[in-house]
Amino acid sequence: MAEYARVGFLFLNFRRITKMGMEQKEDVYNTFSIVQEQLADCARILNLSEDIYSILRSPMREIHISLPVKMDNGKTKVFHGFRVQYNNALGPTKGGIRFHPDETVDTVRALAAWMTWKCSLLNLPLGGGKGGVICNPKEMSEGELERLSRLYIEKIWKYIGPDEDIPAPDVYTNPQIMAWMMDEYSKIAQKNQFGVVTGKPLLLGGSPGRGDATARGGLYTLREAAKELGMDLGYATIAIQGYGNAGYYAAKLAKELFGSKIVAVSDSQGGIYNADGLDPEEIQEHKRKKSSVVGLSGTKRITSEELMEIDVDVLIPAALENVITEKNAHNIKAKVIIELANGPTTPDADDILYKKGIHVIPDFLANAGGVTVSYFEMVQNLTMYYWSEEDVHSRLSDKMSQAYHSVLSAAKQYRVNMRQAAYVVAVSRVVEAMKMRGWI
Ligand code: NAD
Repeated sequence: MAEYARVGFLFLNFRRITKMGMEQKEDVYNTFSIVQEQLADCARILNLSEDIYSILRSPMREIHISLPVKMDNGKTKVFHGFRVQYNNALGPTKGGIRFHPDETVDTVRALAAWMTWKCSLLNLPLGGGKGGVICNPKEMSEGELERLSRLYIEKIWKYIGPDEDIPAPDVYTNPQIMAWMMDEYSKIAQKNQFGVVTGKPLLLGGSPGRGDATARGGLYTLREAAKELGMDLGYATIAIQGYGNAGYYAAKLAKELFGSKIVAVSDSQGGIYNADGLDPEEIQEHKRKKSSVVGLSGTKRITSEELMEIDVDVLIPAALENVITEKNAHNIKAKVIIELANGPTTPDADDILYKKGIHVIPDFLANAGGVTVSYFEMVQNLTMYYWSEEDVHSRLSDKMSQAYHSVLSAAKQYRVNMRQAAYVVAVSRVVEAMKMRGWI
C-alpha cells in the first residue's frame, strides 16, 4: 500500500541556491527544501523517530510527463508536467494543478506536502497531492489550453480518480479547465466521473461557495484571531499582494464581512495604494479591462515589494512563494499576516516575525478553505445532493474555527509559533494514521 518510491531525484540540503543569470546574480529559494526544514523542526518538537521522519520527508509517488500539444500555428510544442502524490495515510490524495511558466518539480513537491498537512489539520479524510505544468496560459489560446488540459489527464488518468487522487484549480487554472479535465477522464472511464476533480462549474457538479472559499476561510481565521488579539476589524486596514481568486475575494469579503478598509493591492504588474480605501469591485473591473490593477484612477502606484512594508493592521500575501524573507521581515508593520498564498514566508523570516510579535496565520491553515469546500464538493458529488450556499458557509466557518483554535492551543501548549503549532497538530494525525495502518 505504502509505495515510498525513491525516484532518483536529489533533495537539496540547502534551501537557498544561487542562480547565475547572463548578467545578474539572483538569490532564489528552494521551496521543497524549506518544507523539509519545517518538517525537521516539527520532528524535533514531536521527537519523531527516524523511520517516521524518513517516510514523511519524501513524496510517496511522483509522475513526470511530457505533453506534445498541437498549437494554433500548426506546430507541436512540448510542455512538461508533474503530479506529486505526497502521502495518502488519511485518504485519497488531493490538491490543485498549477499552470505557470516558473513551475518546478520542487515547488510541486512542496505544495503536495503542504496539502498533506492542510487536509490533516482540517480533519478531512484526505491525503495531499499537487500538479503542475510549465506553461504560460496568458500566451495561449483557449483551444491550446483545452488540448493541454485534456492531454495532461490522458497522461495521468491511471493514477488519479475519486478514490485515488483528486485534482483541483490553483494558480492560472480555473473551473473551465476543471470541466475539460473531468470530461476527458469521463471519456476514458466511459462513464460520467464528476468526482475526479473539484472546483468544477456549478452545472457540472461544482459546489456553491467554492469560488470564494479560500479567501472566506482565511477571513474566518482572521475573525478568530481578532477576538484573541482584541482587534476591531471594522477599523482594520488591509494590504493584499496578488489580486487573483484568493486576493480579490479577500478584499471583497473583508469589506463585506467586517467593514475593513483595503488600502493597497498588487498583481504581477505592480501595486496601487490609497490611504482612504479602495473599492474591490472597481479594482476588479479595472483589472478585467486592463489586465492589471495598476493604473486605477485615484491611486498611487507602488511596487508589490513596497506593499509588504506598508503600515497596515493586516497583511495578506495572496500570490506566490518566498515573498517574506530575512530581507524584508524586519520592515513589516502589520499586526497580523494571513497567508492565503502557499509558502510566502521563509523560515528565517518566520523567526523574525515571531520575535516582532506579529501573529502569523500560516498558509496551510489560512488557505485551507479551498480544499475544505472541495471536500464538501466531493461529498455532494457522491450523494448527488447539493447544499445551499449558506450551508456551505456555515460548515466552512465551523471547520476553520476549529482548526484555528486547535493550532492556537498547540502554540500555547508547546510554546512555539503558529506555523510550528500547525505542523504539530497536522503531522501528529498523519503519524497516528500511518501507525494504525501498520506502515511503521
Ligand atoms: P490566481 O492565478 O487566481 O491569482 C494569482 C495572482 O497573483 C494574480 O493576480 C497574479 O497577477 C498575482 N501575482 C503573480 N505574481 C505576482 C507578484 N510577483 N506580485 C504580486 N502579485 C503577483 O491564483 P490564486 O488561486 O488566487 O492563488 C494565489 C495563491 O493562493 C497561490 O499561492 C495558491 O497556491 C494559493 N491558494 C489558492 C487556492 C485557491 O483555491 N485558489 C487555495 C489554496 C491556496
